[in-house]
Amino acid sequence: MTDDDAFEFYRRLAEADPAPETELRWHNPYTLLVAVALSAQATDVSVNKATRRLFEEVRDPAAMVALGEEGLKAHIRTIGLYNTKAKNVIALSEQMLRDHGGEVPRDRDALQALPGVGRKTANVVLNVAFGHETIAVDTHIFRVGNRTGLAPGKGPDQVEAGLERITPPMFRAHAHHWLILFGRYVCKARKPDCWRCVERDLCPYEPKTPEPAAAARVGVP
Ligand code: SF4
Repeated sequence: MTDDDAFEFYRRLAEADPAPETELRWHNPYTLLVAVALSAQATDVSVNKATRRLFEEVRDPAAMVALGEEGLKAHIRTIGLYNTKAKNVIALSEQMLRDHGGEVPRDRDALQALPGVGRKTANVVLNVAFGHETIAVDTHIFRVGNRTGLAPGKGPDQVEAGLERITPPMFRAHAHHWLILFGRYVCKARKPDCWRCVERDLCPYEPKTPEPAAAARVGVP
């Protein structure tokens, strides 16, 4: 995609949703970090359901350590990989208390040194909690980057590097959310809603998905 087309791509996303936000429920940088850590291979809806009660009781690492691994598991049992996630959340809380005075670190290396925190989680926390212009590449962004030609790449790191290069500065702060929400609700994995997509003329993906009613009339599955 050319730089001009990329600018237009983001301009349209910004016009449709000027102030996009994460769909994860959070109260402070710590609860955001926990919510993101729990969201690997789980939907935001399922994480929000589990954290609604949890975050009424626990909003800082000391309270999490006091709750303990078994106590945490009781809250997050409905989320995939909850055993590993519970272990990581307790361990990262202990490490934050020991090394960071109970605060979420604001730099990437310190974040990624926490148990269970990878580049994607660090990018989300830096962007959402601290306003850094990072773009965390999840499954939705990876797909959108490749399908649209905005930032093609074989792996998330390559797509992230492509997005860093092509995203105009004025759109960087919100790029992460625009692309995730666009991938989640329009440029969906199995059947993208090309028929109602504002990026149709910029996107090389073929064949474009027709409007369901029109598809039914001509017998397209
Ligand atoms: S036209 Fe279709 S494939 Fe292209 S960005 Fe839009 S929804 Fe995705």
